[in-house]
Amino acid sequence: MTESYELNHHSYDVVVVGAGGAGLRATLGMAEQGLKTACVTKVFPTRSHTVAAQGGIAASLSNMGPDSWQWHMYDTIKGSDWLGDMDTMEYVAREAPKAVYELEHYGVPFSRTEEGKIYQRPFGGHTTEYGEGVPVQRVCAAADRTGHAMLHTLYGQSLKNNAEFYIEYFATDLIMSEDGQCQGVVAWKLDDGTMHVFSAKMVVLATGGYGRAYFNCTSAHTCTGDGGGMVARAGLPLQDMEFVQFHPTGVFGPGMLITEGARGEGGYLTNSEGERFMERYAPTFKDLASRDVVSRCMTIEIREGRGVGPNKDHIHLNLSHLQPELLAKRLPGISETAKIFSGVDVTREPIPVLPTVHYNMGGIPTNYWGEVMCPTAESPDAVVPGLMAVGEAACASLHGANRLGANSLIDLVVLGRAAAIRAGKVVDPEAPAPTPNPASVDKALGRFDGLRYASGSTPTAELRLEMQKTMQNDAAVFRTEKTLAEGLEKMTDVAGKLGDLKVTDRSLIWNSDLMETLELTNLMPNALATISGAEARKESRGAHAHEDYPERDDKAWRVHTIARVAGNTVDLSYRPVHVEPLTSLEEGGIDPKKIAPKKRVY
Ligand SMILES: Cc1cc2nc3c(=O)[nH]c(=O)nc-3n(C[C@H](O)[C@H](O)[C@H](O)COP(=O)(O)OP(=O)(O)OC[C@H]3O[C@@H](n4cnc5c(N)ncnc54)[C@H](O)[C@@H]3O)c2cc1C
Repeated sequence: MTESYELNHHSYDVVVVGAGGAGLRATLGMAEQGLKTACVTKVFPTRSHTVAAQGGIAASLSNMGPDSWQWHMYDTIKGSDWLGDMDTMEYVAREAPKAVYELEHYGVPFSRTEEGKIYQRPFGGHTTEYGEGVPVQRVCAAADRTGHAMLHTLYGQSLKNNAEFYIEYFATDLIMSEDGQCQGVVAWKLDDGTMHVFSAKMVVLATGGYGRAYFNCTSAHTCTGDGGGMVARAGLPLQDMEFVQFHPTGVFGPGMLITEGARGEGGYLTNSEGERFMERYAPTFKDLASRDVVSRCMTIEIREGRGVGPNKDHIHLNLSHLQPELLAKRLPGISETAKIFSGVDVTREPIPVLPTVHYNMGGIPTNYWGEVMCPTAESPDAVVPGLMAVGEAACASLHGANRLGANSLIDLVVLGRAAAIRAGKVVDPEAPAPTPNPASVDKALGRFDGLRYASGSTPTAELRLEMQKTMQNDAAVFRTEKTLAEGLEKMTDVAGKLGDLKVTDRSLIWNSDLMETLELTNLMPNALATISGAEARKESRGAHAHEDYPERDDKAWRVHTIARVAGNTVDLSYRPVHVEPLTSLEEGGIDPKKIAPKKRVY
């Protein structure tokens, strides 16, 4: 090491890394039970990407018509293209209404119906009668600023319950004991350059997705998969990384999201002939088919020469037939986004849109209690002591191969809360906190120092761009044997250049060059696992549309991909999907006949 670092020590029952919806819901749940809880976050809590969530949060409240948790579970299973774990999917669908009422009582200002109930809107893939009935209004919303409302409420409640916040602290690595227990994290305080060691009986990773591995995405610049990077460096695996969701309606060019709520409220897509083409592909649910389906149809329209604009390279989203009052009341945020980023007045003109990277179905494998799993052949569900993951960073697997809109926010609160319930059982507040393994702390500091003084020839921004372009081109909406093989080769090469990075700023205070470098070292294993998993999976399922293998193959591929990344190599293995729901039909559970795999048609 070039320099020695003075360490500030902290000791907690629980340390949550991340203050988005998942991190805050977990923090709040831990603190409510009296566990001594710290939340470490690289951005101010209410600036986490959850703040950008527009459309809403799914729960079968039945406020606008008949609904049931069984229908919600069925839609989630079908949305997942039968890759999700049944126990997780049942748990979330059942607990969802309770979790939403809890949010209401905490103070989330939901939009209301005339009778004063929580307003719910239709969303893609959410239906009635096990997909046989009409679309359902299941998505609870606070106008089109649902995530914003949730974050502010959860942050306030966490403070009220005496959770302690370490804001603008960047967690660099996990501290692991020799026998594989997680004992805490090492963090760098961005504004004064001090280094911190947090020891904890339980660490919860809630670091969000890794959208920034791609060139064009709807996620914030902070979505760099830091939790996945930390886990990979600790020798633990990532799961189902090949499943990356493209949202059908990113603003053409800058990529900002136009919520699916826009189509939920009656918006529709058209091609250069002015045709509502979704009617051809999905006769029943049309523009409200699930996201992977709509994104593929848009891509086909463009490829076949029916794109709009001078270069026929995008699609139109029409809202101008909707009442201006409705647009102002239900979709004020996206009306503003359309104006600012494409100069469009939504009451008069269509918005130019294109499928844009939006969500990572894959992540750190966990069970539905949030406990991180480290599967082995003998024990596919083995858990790592002292480590949990929640939110988009995790893969529980609620979303399987494709997430339904509004199912992430519900994932954050239901599984954030579940992690707190579980921690209440396994964390003993009386027990002493673990003594952090000095070798593991030294390793983390050594890596930090190595990057701080990195003096190779490739600037961070240059390598990041190379990674983003490769992922955008070769792990796209449609994939082929050829693009994936080439992409894997290129990504292996790109990841190999991490050793040649050049950092120019050596200071410790507000060093964004160093922070972005740390982030790049986290993005890279996520990206590499994504393209390796995609290259290996010889079928089409959910968001993974393989043109050389256009059919889903349940016999060979209804399995979770487990990816262990070391340097620029990836070792793949597979874990069985949990196919049993938690509750039998006799005990009031879902009818097993309803959830048997079948072709996915909308
Ligand atoms: C534009 C947009 C709109 C969306 N709309 C919806 C919607 O309407 N409904 C829905 O269900 N889903 C929606 N989604 C998806 C959903 O919002 C996200 O999946 C979800 O908010 C992720 O929450 P999270 O808590 O896991 O992570 P985030 O909200 O991304 O928070 C991550 C946290 O981790 C912290 N962190 C990360 N790395 C570190 C580190 N190294 N050290 C310290 N702290 C760290 C950050 O500071 C941050 O606090 C949307 C997503 C986007 C991008």
